[in-house]
Amino acid sequence: RAPDYIRSISPYIPGKPIGELAREMGLNEADIVKLASNENPLGASPKATAAAQKAIADIHRYPDGNGFELRAALVARFGVAPEQIVLGNGSNDLLNLCAAAYLNSETSAVYSQHAFAVYPLAVKSAGAQGIEVPAKAYGHDLAAMLAAIRSDTRIVFIANPNNPTGNFLPDEEIVDFLDGAPDDVLIVLDEAYNEYLAPEQRYDSVAWLAKYPNLVITRTFSKIYGLGGLRVGYGLAGREVADLLNRVREPFNVNNVALAAAAAALGDEEFVARSYAVNRDGMAQLMAGFDALGLEYIPSSGNFMTFRVGDAANVNRRLLEQGVIVRPIASYQMPEWLRVTIGLPHENARFLEALAKALLKGA
Ligand code: PMP
Repeated sequence: RAPDYIRSISPYIPGKPIGELAREMGLNEADIVKLASNENPLGASPKATAAAQKAIADIHRYPDGNGFELRAALVARFGVAPEQIVLGNGSNDLLNLCAAAYLNSETSAVYSQHAFAVYPLAVKSAGAQGIEVPAKAYGHDLAAMLAAIRSDTRIVFIANPNNPTGNFLPDEEIVDFLDGAPDDVLIVLDEAYNEYLAPEQRYDSVAWLAKYPNLVITRTFSKIYGLGGLRVGYGLAGREVADLLNRVREPFNVNNVALAAAAAALGDEEFVARSYAVNRDGMAQLMAGFDALGLEYIPSSGNFMTFRVGDAANVNRRLLEQGVIVRPIASYQMPEWLRVTIGLPHENARFLEALAKALLKGA
């Protein structure tokens, strides 16, 4: 019999796959707009795709378990030592590695209400206690999170920007938190959407690693780099933390196609810049659309927006009927809200039209 703490876990609910909705509704896959998983609407960088195709010639071989090439590319980008990098099967893997290395049934971990769903999953899987701190204006209340740290707390998870709310924490607030947190608590700064920050929001968290040996920064190739299907993320930390995470890491956790594609994607700055611009413009399009519909939304610093519709389950069903997939977030204690990923201009327009109809029907 599995332990009760495993039985208490609520499974992660992913966005509905296009093929599944096509079958359910009798729609053509080509007519479906999926804006549910914070994917890059431009697809992947052509350089990454070419590198992935080339790497397919070697799928009979085990990947390089140390990810030499990708690690070298990250060293060149961030100016850290190779020993400060941990590669993951998505950044989700990194979150689990942190839990595996730092938690057991005698410990606890702190995270915010409305924060990314994998934090409680990782914490509970390790048998530890999750301490959920009430949000402030849907974002992290860092002062309350600091106050919530107990003597048995070993990890605090901070998402910046947060998913699903898109809230952003300015760097001074995070630095204050790092200064106030005990040294023996691992601070996981989840920056999955970091590359979407506006120029005036950007900050150099990597520079903090020299001062805070209890900090780990997690990032991903799933979002702006457009490689969600390949599952690659990375952690940057001090040597001691990186060493511990690498000890509990599955030896070949990132496959060779993913390693090659990620290294190529990191070098395609033109693609990243284009993805950023598409997202910025798409966000303006969605905000104008929400304003026109009189809907409340949370200002977002990611590649998605969360908006309030009231009976979200119903509105979601009406969107699905029209072939538009967004993300209900009732499991994040936001039953009146939906989250939409920012798409290409025509996808955003399709979504807004479908939303207007879905709301009318609800009247
Ligand atoms: N952190 C946050 C805040 C996220 O939203 C996500 C993806 N939904 C992840 C981490 C994990 O993404 P991946 O495993 O694809 O890197």
